Parts: sequence; structure tokens; C-alpha cells
Amino acid sequence: MKVVENLKEIQLKIKEACEKSGRNMEDIKIIAVTKYVSTSRAIEALNAGIVHLGENRDEGLLEKWEKLKDKPIWHFIGSLQTRKVKNIIDKVEYIHSLDRLSLAEEINKRTEKQVKCLVQVNVSGEETKQGIQPDEVNEFISQLIEYPNIRVCGLMTMAPFTSDEKILRSCFRKLKDLQAEIQSLNLDYAPCNELSMGMSNDYRIAIEEGATMVRIGTALVGEEDLGIGG
Ligand SMILES: *Cc1c(COP(=O)(O)O)cnc(C)c1O
Repeated sequence: MKVVENLKEIQLKIKEACEKSGRNMEDIKIIAVTKYVSTSRAIEALNAGIVHLGENRDEGLLEKWEKLKDKPIWHFIGSLQTRKVKNIIDKVEYIHSLDRLSLAEEINKRTEKQVKCLVQVNVSGEETKQGIQPDEVNEFISQLIEYPNIRVCGLMTMAPFTSDEKILRSCFRKLKDLQAEIQSLNLDYAPCNELSMGMSNDYRIAIEEGATMVRIGTALVGEEDLGIGG
């Protein structure tokens, strides 16, 4: 499938989810997750009107960045090793996986501008999932005041791998509740107005529950690149 066609269908579903929940489509950023596909497929996505690209490994990001430079807005969405921060820090606009102080310290040290970070929360409590525990988010964010180059623009989570709508909904709702809690603190460095939640299988539910960023790979660009060239 062409990216344009996938995008049209996704936009239609986003529109429906917005109507259902009384939201504006303009408030939702679609991040095309290009980790499974080549640069040419990423270019196809940009030509289809995509603005935001997401990668979860530094190699993948650097490879595509070499060719696309700052045409897209780059999002780093995967778990980030501290020693790799310096490779990506000047290339990305958003980091979705801030989950420990040592990482905050390194980000703060390696840049002179403010980096938009999302704190990754392990809402579902699954052991395999990255992120800090919901009851530690408040304390964690209050400690980030020590790092002036970090701006906490939002929260991010990955829902459990299930098609059970109830479980998904409750996961997204918990992240939204945490956001409200942080916002009520009125911290200058942590406006926390973004909610990064929802992937190919659950983005409609995530939007109904308040997502402002959906990270879509498979449903948008596919998971395997059949095109020629990289
Ligand atoms: C791969 C990935 C996605 C996209 O997953 P799809 O199910 O292919 O849409 C979203 N978020 C993160 C953090 C990912 O690693």
C-alpha cells in the first residue's frame, strides 16, 4: 500500500475518534515510525504530507538523518542508552523516553538548547516495559528542575499488547490523569501538554482518551520495505 492511501485511512479514523470525543484533529500530531523501513519509504511519507518521523534506535535515526537532515521533525521514541545521547541530541526535536535521572543529566550536559522531553511511564506495570512507575512520576519530574536544558513537554506510554479495549482505555486514562496531576503543579519547565500514546493497533482509543501524539509504524508505512534503495 502507498503511504498516501494509508495516511488517508488513518486520518479518517482520527477524524472519527475526534468527533466521538469532541476534539480537534489539529491537536493531534501523527508521528510516522520508520524504524522498520528504508529512507525511501520515509521520503514517501514526507511527500504524503507527514511532518514528524520517529525512530527508536540511534543507528536508524542517523542513517535517515544523513539523507533527510532537518526536513522532518525528528522524534526519538526508543529506550535511549546514556552513551548514545551525544549521537542524536542535536538532530532530534523530541525525546519520548526520558525515564531516569542519569539520562536527564546526560541530555542536559550535551546540549545548549532546551530539549523537549516526554517522561516515559510504565502505566501497565509489565516488567518488560520501560518507563518509571506511575507513583514515582511526580517525584521524578520535580527532580528535573536541576536540569535547565530539559523541558518536560509531556508524558509517553506504551499500552500492553492486547486487543482488550477496556485494558487499553484504562491505561491511556491513567496517563491522562497523571498529566493533570503534573499540570496542576504549574511548573515552568514542565508544561506537560503532550500525551504520546497510541500505536497502529490502538491509536483510535488513545485519541479518544486524549493523545496529542500518536506513533504509527505498521499501519502507515508498513513493517517491511519492498522498495528499491535505502
Ligand atoms: C515501533 C514503535 C511504535 C510503532 O509501532 P506500530 O505498532 O508499528 O505502529 C510506536 N512506539 C514505539 C515506542 C515503538 O517502538
